[in-house]
Amino acid sequence: MRITKQRETILEVLRNAGRPLTREEILKKGRQQMGRLGPATVDRAIREMTADFYVVGVEFPGQPRRYELPAESEHPHFICRGCNRVFDLPIKMQLPEINPPSGFKVSGGEIIYSGTCPDCA
Ligand SMILES: [Zn+2]
Repeated sequence: MRITKQRETILEVLRNAGRPLTREEILKKGRQQMGRLGPATVDRAIREMTADFYVVGVEFPGQPRRYELPAESEHPHFICRGCNRVFDLPIKMQLPEINPPSGFKVSGGEIIYSGTCPDCA
């Protein structure tokens, strides 16, 4: 994969944020560093970087897809009910093994805690 200036900017935005960001958050923060960054460019870069595992998608039910840099280990997340921001919890945590109901296929799992962040408390 070619590392373009746009992709470098997105990776830097995710690194600096230290938490999973939505496409809108990436776009907003990316534009602070690179004024010309357009939504189509961001979408394409995210799609390609996700396919190449430079970036991983984080999906919570009823929430927009978020993106973060690949972590060393599985970790839970915390979502603020006030501002909807999602934070990484720096804890090593393995999802429990489950036996899905008959006919169900598991494609992923997440451990999510919720509450309020310091800005919203
Ligand atoms: Zn908050």
